[in-house]
Amino acid sequence: MRRISIFGATGSIGENTVDLITRAGGAEAFDVVALSGGRNVARLAEQARELRADLAVTAFDDCYADLRDALAGTGIEVAAGADAVSEAATRSADWVMSSIVGAAGLLPGLKALEQGATLALANKESLVTAGPLLMQTAADHKATVLPVDSEHSAIFQGLVGEDPAAVERIVITASGGAFRDWPIDDLANATLAQASSHPNWDMGQRITIDSASMFNKALEVIEVKEFFGVHPDQIEVLVHPESIVHAIVGFNDGAMMAHMGAPDMRHAIGYALNWPDRRGLPVERLDLARIGALNFRAPDMRRYPALRLAYEVMATGGLAGAAFNAAKERALDGFIDGDIGFMDMAVVVERVLDMLSSDTGLNNVDITLDNVLNMDQIARQHAGDAIKTLMA
Ligand code: NDP
Ligand code: MG
Repeated sequence: MRRISIFGATGSIGENTVDLITRAGGAEAFDVVALSGGRNVARLAEQARELRADLAVTAFDDCYADLRDALAGTGIEVAAGADAVSEAATRSADWVMSSIVGAAGLLPGLKALEQGATLALANKESLVTAGPLLMQTAADHKATVLPVDSEHSAIFQGLVGEDPAAVERIVITASGGAFRDWPIDDLANATLAQASSHPNWDMGQRITIDSASMFNKALEVIEVKEFFGVHPDQIEVLVHPESIVHAIVGFNDGAMMAHMGAPDMRHAIGYALNWPDRRGLPVERLDLARIGALNFRAPDMRRYPALRLAYEVMATGGLAGAAFNAAKERALDGFIDGDIGFMDMAVVVERVLDMLSSDTGLNNVDITLDNVLNMDQIARQHAGDAIKTLMA
């Protein structure tokens, strides 16, 4: 039986993964090694019972007692804390879903690769903060990384059987998020509730807000560079309001291989689960005649400063990705907490990048785990300071 673990099982990607695993036979078909979650202990316990997991871990120490009580008498091992999540990732598994949100997903992903697991990677922050380290760890341990972000899964599928040297460019699409049709001047006043609803995709709150600001697409552009090893000049973003074409691979003969599908993450998750095979998935079949038209336009960099910053981060290299992601996470907390406005998030991130590139030289440092985690802390600190300045 295939041994699997899911990190971030209680989240949006995690639940979709559990859904596919359950449909494919659940505990009868898979040996579930570990499930991790955060504060939603009740749901984690339910998943652990249903899938008969060996171990359930909450990332937060103060949730331990609730999880232990919820699983009392089941024989399922219970643990809590960030170290316990990483320890769970060292337990031998064949297939591991990395779907924790934020930089907290990096270490469990690395641990899973070190024990040779195939890593289904939804946690794009791992590639943005430490792409070279993650890919090298996979190579060193002959482990496979499969992209789960929909655009990256689409590119991956477009490259099957192709010579990477024949790739000229890669286009990823963006729905444009909640505010794509708003007048730019109104964006500064966008509320948390408005930013938290996505026109096409049903996702976790943080990535939904990141879609409205295009910080999500900014992370994804960097993710393309790190995963597929292409030059930043080869990566393009198109606003595509229908979210039907997820990505396009352009080849040196002018052919463009577009990947289409309904906006349902179970496609990309299922592809990674069944890879290298294709198997039936419970996703909507598109009726293109009914959809009628697909629209594409170039993104307006004034509306989406995050996208401009992504190209600057790639040009800088080194630890710029780690700084960018951490500053973005802190700025997002600031917006969620009501401390700063929607457009201030990019202002905060840009200030942090400016500050760090002038005083440390972000690109003169090796991308080791210690350096990445250290930069993560420094950038969060600077972002906190920048938020205070904006609030004053
Ligand atoms: P959610 O917020 O829905 O879920 C996040 C998961 O991580 C939950 O299980 C949560 O636990 C857990 N978690 C939260 N904080 C921590 C922490 N500090 N340490 C460990 N675990 C924690 O996120 P999504 O599922 O939307 O996104 C997960 C990842 O997948 C992100 O990297 C995102 O960018 C990426 N992704 C998501 C897509 C989507 O459609 N949702 C699409 C493409 C990529 P709990 O809820 O129990 O507190
Ligand atoms: Mg995506």
